[in-house]
Parts: sequence; structure tokens; C-alpha cells
Amino acid sequence: MPHDEFVFIGKGINRPLREVPSLVVNTSLAYRNVTHKDEEAGVYDLHQLLKFSALEEEYFYLPKEKTWYETGTHEKADTSNNFVEGQCISDPTGLENILVKQPQIIDYHFHPLNPELTRKDAEDLVNQLGSIIPQEQYDLAVRKFMQFDYIIFGAPSTVDIKKIIRNRVENADTPEDEYVFQYKVTGLYGTFSYKVNANAVQYFVQGGQPCQSVRQMSGHQSLPCVHEFPVI
Ligand SMILES: [Zn+2]
Repeated sequence: MPHDEFVFIGKGINRPLREVPSLVVNTSLAYRNVTHKDEEAGVYDLHQLLKFSALEEEYFYLPKEKTWYETGTHEKADTSNNFVEGQCISDPTGLENILVKQPQIIDYHFHPLNPELTRKDAEDLVNQLGSIIPQEQYDLAVRKFMQFDYIIFGAPSTVDIKKIIRNRVENADTPEDEYVFQYKVTGLYGTFSYKVNANAVQYFVQGGQPCQSVRQMSGHQSLPCVHEFPVI
């Protein structure tokens, strides 16, 4: 399912543009989809997509032009380890001339609602566990619950947050008010906007390591944190 897509800049595949009326998942590397519509209309498309698609897709939305450019490549659903995880590589190669003129770029993706994974699945798994729980089963149960959390709330995954930390730290010299990138993910009940705050940038620039607990860090104001809040 949705999460832990491997989001990093791809290998530099420049694709000709193809205009399509709605946001869709495109697994072809032969072209890049472009859709002209405002943010609200695009989010509506994403909300329809996430109900039926097993694959994730990623886009750059440019508010100034009210245009969505597909950036995801190599979309696949990894079913190893009893989980379905959306994976997608972000590759905006060829869009440089457009992107450099933008005052704001919103990196959007969505988290598919995976009908194969339900809360009952997770509860059944936990109920099967005996009083002595092997670490492997415990990890599996925890993971299932985490995925359920993602499905229901569409929250940014750990990988999503690691990505924005890396991108922001690599551009740490850019002041906050000049940083053009924003990050949003759409789930079943809404869209999350998430960002790395100034304390977190400082923490990671000084050598702090993103780790498994990075999502939990968002709940502790005394720690360098990542803000997550629903916006739509
Ligand atoms: Zn994600």
C-alpha cells in the first residue's frame, strides 16, 4: 500500500509532454502527463484515483500556471513481505526551464486506499499472537497498524518525511521565505501539508540523523520537528 514509496530524484529521463484532462497514474516512460486545472480540481482527481489505484503517482503542481506535471516514474506496488507498498521515483528532468520561473512548486502525491488491507486484517493478526510474541510477528503487527493509519488518514510516511528533510537540508542556504517547494499528500479524508521547520533544518545540518522515530518527532514540540496538518 501506500507508503514508503522510494521517493528520490530519478535517473534523468526527459519525456515529451502529453496533455490529459484529468490526473491519472502513468506507468509509461514514453511521455509525461500535463493537466491544466486548479489545485482544488486536481485534488478532487487524486481523491478519485486513490480509491481505485494500487499504484501511487507524483506530480508538481504549479499554482501560478494552475498546471500539474507528472513527475513520478517506475510506479509499482511491492507485495513482498505480505505488504503492498506503493513505490515511485520522482524525476522532473526536462522541466527545469519551467520550474526555475516558479514562485511556488507543490510536490503532490496520493496514498492509495488498499482494499486488501483492512483494520480487521490487523486486528486478526494481533489476536493470533500468543503471550510470547516473536519479534518478527510483533514487527509485522505494528507495521500493519501503521499502514492502517496511513490508509485512513493518508498521513505522510516516514519515507515522505525523510525526503523533505533531505531536500530542505541540501538547500539549507535558501531562506525559508525563498524556498519554493511545498509538499502535500492526499489521503481518503483529506490532504496533508508537511514541512521541515527551521529548528529541524538546523538540527539536521549539524549532523542530526533522520531515524525511525522521525514521525513521532512531530508530536514533541521540544524536539526538532516536522509539522503535519490537514489543509483541505
Ligand atoms: Zn507517501
